[in-house]
Amino acid sequence: MIAHKLKNITPSYTIEINKKVADLKQQGKNIINFSIGEPDFYMPNHGKNAAIKAIEENKTKYDKVPGLEALRQSITHKLRNENNTSYHLDEIVVSNGAKHAITNTLMALLNPGDEVLIPIPYWVSYPEMVKLTGGVPVFIESSKETGYKLTSKQIASKVTPKTKLIFLTNPSNPSGVVYSEEELRDIGNYCVQNHIYILSDEIYERICFDAPFVSMASLSEPIKNITITINGLSKSLAMPGMRIGYSASNKEMAKAITTIQGHLISHPATVSQWCAAGALDQCKDEIELMKKAYQERRDLAVTLLDAMPHLSYVKPQGAFYLFIDVSYYKKYIHFEKSFSVAFCKELLDKASVAVVPGIAFGMDDFIRISYACDMETLQHGLEKINSYLKELI
Ligand code: PMP
Ligand code: GLU
Repeated sequence: MIAHKLKNITPSYTIEINKKVADLKQQGKNIINFSIGEPDFYMPNHGKNAAIKAIEENKTKYDKVPGLEALRQSITHKLRNENNTSYHLDEIVVSNGAKHAITNTLMALLNPGDEVLIPIPYWVSYPEMVKLTGGVPVFIESSKETGYKLTSKQIASKVTPKTKLIFLTNPSNPSGVVYSEEELRDIGNYCVQNHIYILSDEIYERICFDAPFVSMASLSEPIKNITITINGLSKSLAMPGMRIGYSASNKEMAKAITTIQGHLISHPATVSQWCAAGALDQCKDEIELMKKAYQERRDLAVTLLDAMPHLSYVKPQGAFYLFIDVSYYKKYIHFEKSFSVAFCKELLDKASVAVVPGIAFGMDDFIRISYACDMETLQHGLEKINSYLKELI
């Protein structure tokens, strides 16, 4: 009954584990949830008030397919002021979260069999999104030694005449690494010369701790022209349930995305869009406070992790994740297919701590911890992991 292409698609690990935690909590179990990447903050008041006002003013009719003009204005201002990129209104399309902005882009760009380069570790949904939209994922290995960052040389080794697009996540989910301007320029220029589009997923851009964030599209006009910037409000404005994301691209791409969106969803909920416009314009202070809190948590987490034996990781400079190599413990865990899945299952069963197996991100020796939780929970959860590891050996 179900389409053949679904045979090859794995459900999202992040979402499945989070659901499992919710079920366990419902059964009265006390679980520390380091799994899903969901801010523990609530959306700022400006967003809430804008949404309430929109309902009271009956702003609940159909509107423009690429998104409310007021919201796209706010997005172009933000891109100009914060990211040094200049876009017209008709180059922005607002969609149902960054996920939807990515799938719209893939639908607009890929012909059957087109190859899409995906650096490992990757965010869990990229390969499945590519397969669902008719493309072929081609993975590029990276290593801890280079901080999981790619160079144009590594990219070149995987390019074929069918290569159409490369994914770049900056800051990265799951590793939290952040590319410098020079590193981005190397990749951007290579892609311009070799006619490869760049999907630059910048959803964690405002959660960047140690150096200023650089947007790929800001580097040059030719790079901007081949880049589709993906962003959204789920993380930086702590409103994942409002489902607002967007793409910024050249006009031709934005027009194609608008055509697709017009048939599939018309546009995201108008109330969510008014809420986003209110939040985007007025919440700079709240964004700074949340970033500061994530940074303090990152610092606490790395201090605690450094005191635990046999673990290694690259210190994250952004987002709110730690991607940890736990391969030393392989000899102590019984597994058939996936070590990281078995490790995470045992950790949940025995220590009541939920994390995501590295296999979700293409690296089975690893686990991912989300530190989007308060300091006390973070400390308690990491101590529980430490005790569990000590008992394991
Ligand atoms: N890209 C990355 C790297 C993510 O971590 C996420 C997680 N939500 C998304 C895209 C999707 O964001 P949204 O919830 O806005 O669809
Ligand atoms: N992006 C977050 C994560 O990686 C939220 C869950 C999801 O959309 O996958 O955990």
